[in-house]
Amino acid sequence: MISTLSPPDVPQLVLEDFARSVYGIAGEWARLEGERDQNFRVTSGESGTWVFKVCHPDEGDDVLACQAEALEHIAKADETLPVPRLRRALSSEALPSLRHEGRRYPVMLLSWLDGGVIGERKLPSEAIHRMGVLLARLGLAMRGFVHGAPAGRKLVWDTRHVLKLRAQIANLPAEDRPLAEDILSRHGDVTEKTLLRMRSQIIHGDVHPYNSLIDAEGRISGIIDFGDIVHGPLVLDLANAAADFLAPGRDNAAMIFELVKGYSSVTPLEEQEADALLDLIEVRLLMTPLVDALKAANGIASQGYFQAFNGRSMPMIRELRKLGHDRLHNLIRRAAAFPPKVQSPPESVGDIIARRRRVMGEKLYVFYDPPLHMVKGKGVWLTASDGKRYLDCYNNVPHVGHCHPYVTEAIARQARTLNTNTRYITDQSIDYAERLGALSSDGLSAVVFVNSGSEANDLAWRMAKAWTGKQGGLAMEFAYHGVSEAIDAFSPSNAPANWYAPHIRLLPPPDVYRGPFGANDPDIGERYAAMADPLIAELEGEGYGVAAAMIDSAFMTNGILDAPKGYLQGVVDRVRQAGGTFIADEVQSGFGRMGTEFWGHRHHGVVPDFITIGKPAGNGHPVGAVITRPEILDHFIRLGPFFSTFGGNNVACAAGIAVLDVIRDEGLLENALATGGYLRDGLRKLMHKHAIIGDVRGVGLATGVELVRDRATKEPAATETSRLLGLLRDEGILIGGEGVFANVLKIRPPLVFTMADADIAVAAMDRALSRL
Ligand code: PMP
Repeated sequence: MISTLSPPDVPQLVLEDFARSVYGIAGEWARLEGERDQNFRVTSGESGTWVFKVCHPDEGDDVLACQAEALEHIAKADETLPVPRLRRALSSEALPSLRHEGRRYPVMLLSWLDGGVIGERKLPSEAIHRMGVLLARLGLAMRGFVHGAPAGRKLVWDTRHVLKLRAQIANLPAEDRPLAEDILSRHGDVTEKTLLRMRSQIIHGDVHPYNSLIDAEGRISGIIDFGDIVHGPLVLDLANAAADFLAPGRDNAAMIFELVKGYSSVTPLEEQEADALLDLIEVRLLMTPLVDALKAANGIASQGYFQAFNGRSMPMIRELRKLGHDRLHNLIRRAAAFPPKVQSPPESVGDIIARRRRVMGEKLYVFYDPPLHMVKGKGVWLTASDGKRYLDCYNNVPHVGHCHPYVTEAIARQARTLNTNTRYITDQSIDYAERLGALSSDGLSAVVFVNSGSEANDLAWRMAKAWTGKQGGLAMEFAYHGVSEAIDAFSPSNAPANWYAPHIRLLPPPDVYRGPFGANDPDIGERYAAMADPLIAELEGEGYGVAAAMIDSAFMTNGILDAPKGYLQGVVDRVRQAGGTFIADEVQSGFGRMGTEFWGHRHHGVVPDFITIGKPAGNGHPVGAVITRPEILDHFIRLGPFFSTFGGNNVACAAGIAVLDVIRDEGLLENALATGGYLRDGLRKLMHKHAIIGDVRGVGLATGVELVRDRATKEPAATETSRLLGLLRDEGILIGGEGVFANVLKIRPPLVFTMADADIAVAAMDRALSRL
């Protein structure tokens, strides 16, 4: 039932008697306006000023008890919130009853708040902002308030029941009817259902300029009249206020903007609330003429400020429409800190590529033809703009899964709190450095933060030269370590044909499958390591010496090699003998990728002088670092200061810490070991069926599958590999190609990859190989 009550009319003398005997107050009485209640202002000298409220007998005791309890709840939850305080009767009753002419009227005595109603006064934008803040605080103060009464309350003013007023459209002036119909259809199509899913609680329900107060200094000084208290979507308080504060001849867009901004500075809006707000404002405006029509049908004349609202409702709706729905909608989104919604026509992948070419260069370096347009990631899945989902068996940057909520939250929380640099003392950088140091041990406890793997390697190389006084370096053939000029010299895979770096020598990869020494050779590790000897001798002979060897413990670009036992230690021993250091590039192999240990070098039993990190450290957020021995760092910074503006910023470190937490808490090393082994077992089984698979190798979740045209000659199957990657893409599986012959499948998924995911990948691989 929709209720339409008009206020009681008990003689003032009766009320004065009642106030004296039940509350012990007397004073000067003045009548106040009220839609359903009979209200008086009582000024009583020493005991202050009060509002004496005679409630409508049909209102329902439970609803009134709820109002009284709500006020007492708010007084406790937010002591300084300017809303009336309830004064209990001498008997300590919250709601004493007054009997008059056979009827019983519940009574409330409320503190008088200074200031006058805002009414038609124009508010400066600071006051509107404060209004938004107060509204949000009011919602917060009532968040924990529970009462049965408002749940079932069906108020005529409740936006959620607006469609029940549809019949009243017929009673509106003819020129208003199409607009009213349009609003109700839009509302019925979209927002009505959304309201059912919105956060809801007991709300004031009716904050407007005639029950909001302003003091002599122009500050909002109170919100009164809890008569429409209801259980409903929280956003209705904001929508109703926004609608009711609209007025002709003002900058109404600015008013809505400030109100929403103030509100969301305390209680951030959910996106669905921001997106529903404009519709809810229009509906609230429309309700005034509809309710007026309903009242008229019930023989109740509208009075007081209701008439003012009624007169301007339809013109205000028209004004909003003139301002433009999209514009206002985006203004609200902006105020609530959501990016604008751009209504652009759907684009073809071709158009997007053309756009990219114009701004990012003619030569596209992208995977797949046509490339994939990715729009979303979650765990081990990526979603493209056409809605197709891809199992990500390739990307090692989203180490703990795409958009892991623990990491994204840590990033967002820190971004909201503080993001500055290491020239200040910041907790996150110290905590993160301690965590990295503790994971590294072996005397490596000094951390320098940068922003990428390349920078980390560049810095480690500078430190190595400074520490050793030498100028030469060793890298693997076909290695990749980054983009800077110094590190390009360590990255022959960048441009194998043009690579030239006189101070660098390249180590032949310890490739048990393809190299000169096979797996059955008992000294295989030592034999491959000994290949470093002539290279070191050359560097020494040419006066460079060896400052460092830089090696990726997963041998990723070499085709994910199972380096023989003792190989890496053999190389490192030789380098140290020559006075050099070992830079363990853990950009690929670190953070548990290899399953057995947190760091790849530990898998080989080697202790480095430098660990460099990048890619997985921030799960996609740029994080890089060099971890070294304190004496090496001290020596380096004695030569000159080092500072990276973004390196070690609070957000990057919060991301890094969150990644370490997830790896530990979700047991990702154990998962990498178990799932990686399971995946390779599945792939090895395919070797019986598909002769093109020459070798399956790797550890943890770094797996290489080498494809050959002939298992005896090991002729690399490069074009087949490239074709297979396309077929796998069609199967919804992302895998990369790698190796000097581009014939190795690189399977390197996020560490949250499960055995069920491995089953999907292996089954797809089987199908794709059959179609090759
Ligand atoms: N080292 C290794 C082993 C890498 O694989 C990469 C990136 N592929 C880098 C360093 C460079 O890292 P970034 O791209 O973050 O500069």
